[in-house]
Amino acid sequence: MATESTVQHRELFIGGQWRAAADNGRMDVEDPATGTVIASVASASLGDVDAAVNAAREAIAGEWGKLSGRERSRILLRVVDLMRERSEDLAQAESLDVGKPVSLARAIDVPGAIGQIEYYATLAPHLDGAVRDTEAPTFAYTRREPRGVVAAISPFNFPLILAASKIGPALAAGNTIVHKPAPQTPLSALLLAEILTDAGVPAGVFNLITGGGPEIGDALVRHPGVNMVAFTGSTTVGRIVAATAGECLKPVMVELGGNGANLVFADADLDKVVQTIVSAFVYNTGQFCMAGTRLLVERPVYDRVVDAVAGAVAAVPVGRPSDPGSVVGPLVSRAQLERVERMVDDAIASGGRAVVGGSRIELDGGYYYAPTVIAGLSNDALAIQEEVFGPVLTVQPFDTEEEAIALANSTAYGLAAGVQTRDIARAHRVTAQLEAGLLWVNTWSALDPAVPFGGVKNSGWGRESGPEALESYTRVKSVTIDLS
Ligand code: NAD
Repeated sequence: MATESTVQHRELFIGGQWRAAADNGRMDVEDPATGTVIASVASASLGDVDAAVNAAREAIAGEWGKLSGRERSRILLRVVDLMRERSEDLAQAESLDVGKPVSLARAIDVPGAIGQIEYYATLAPHLDGAVRDTEAPTFAYTRREPRGVVAAISPFNFPLILAASKIGPALAAGNTIVHKPAPQTPLSALLLAEILTDAGVPAGVFNLITGGGPEIGDALVRHPGVNMVAFTGSTTVGRIVAATAGECLKPVMVELGGNGANLVFADADLDKVVQTIVSAFVYNTGQFCMAGTRLLVERPVYDRVVDAVAGAVAAVPVGRPSDPGSVVGPLVSRAQLERVERMVDDAIASGGRAVVGGSRIELDGGYYYAPTVIAGLSNDALAIQEEVFGPVLTVQPFDTEEEAIALANSTAYGLAAGVQTRDIARAHRVTAQLEAGLLWVNTWSALDPAVPFGGVKNSGWGRESGPEALESYTRVKSVTIDLS
């Protein structure tokens, strides 16, 4: 098995121990590039959820709960060093599991995950409260305290980065975690559990329950021992998670789907913009929440831009994830491939025209779909209004700035949007009016652990990255002392 050398453990990780699921449940993990089984991992039962949450509670009451921010910072910096040492293992596991080109895993996923933990390691000693001026003769101050046990639930597309973007701030703030990765892609989380342990993260601070889907996720969110829920995934499931957390009165962050609009004005640098447009939707085989999947182009340059984009898309190397030259790999699963195919077929049936792509690619029995550009759709088409989550771009012309903004804001999502223009005043004016949490000007997908990440509308609420995320993983306590 190709994962033998890198992923040693395939069990649950609870209270610092690797252990089989209570009912001995197992789950197969597929290689999306071939459709074959590459690993079998433990599949958690409800009893394991309970055990993991209890272990996380005990860890708060133990050594971990007494550490200073500086001590937590030192441990997290050791995690960072070990992640760097094991970067190739992490990249290989992520590439195999998700089907993403290994070059992408090396360039984006691994450094992105390391960057998250490193950033929060540096913030851990700075969780300061404030002294407040009061009318009465009192001394009043605030303390920022950890929330307690965090349920961290993540999707299949960026398992490592999305685990790290929860582990970093949660542990920096002194919480403990029960992490549930997506059932399709558990491998890098198994490696992370090893790394965290080797770095000296005490037993029970990080617990991992693999396998299981709705039932296990729901039990974790509801568990009375969980104090906060950090969820990344689809809008459909996010709604359920937010409702359950609401019923249980738990703070919850939901980072959900998107269908980002990329606005290209006639004054943009049209040579540079083509590459920006293409990578904004083919990156990670289109399986990323902040993808720029709706291209809006000012009419005078519409034909020129669409032709250039179609040419560039046709030249994108699609191939095996292990091939260093591949830019696009397979989709994560047969179900995801069939979903993309259905959405494109529906787009064509409702009047759209595939300018390029529009079909599967047969290779090794893997789940490949050709990068696709669709023109001619009306704005209410499903492929425009919904999230496709595959390498599919729709293109629409616009005549005025107002129309471009209205089209961009016309869907229920609001995660990312971009403005491609040389006019600085327009860049500020338009970004201010776009309903999205992440805005890019003359670029797309530029991310940094210091810059808050998250959406509005059906793309969710809460922010990962930046000091904002760290605050979400804490609660404020006010202390008032009588000075009379
Ligand atoms: P999904 O919503 O199907 O699953 C996400 C996670 O939720 C998985 O671990 C799953 O097992 C778990 N889950 C399922 N039902 C649950 C329930 N009832 N209670 C608790 N947990 C439950 O998402 P997916 O298909 O794995 O990932 C794709 C989606 O994730 C896309 O919509 C994408 O846009 C979104 N996403 C968003 C961001 C962001 O930061 N905004 C980042 C990456 C992916």
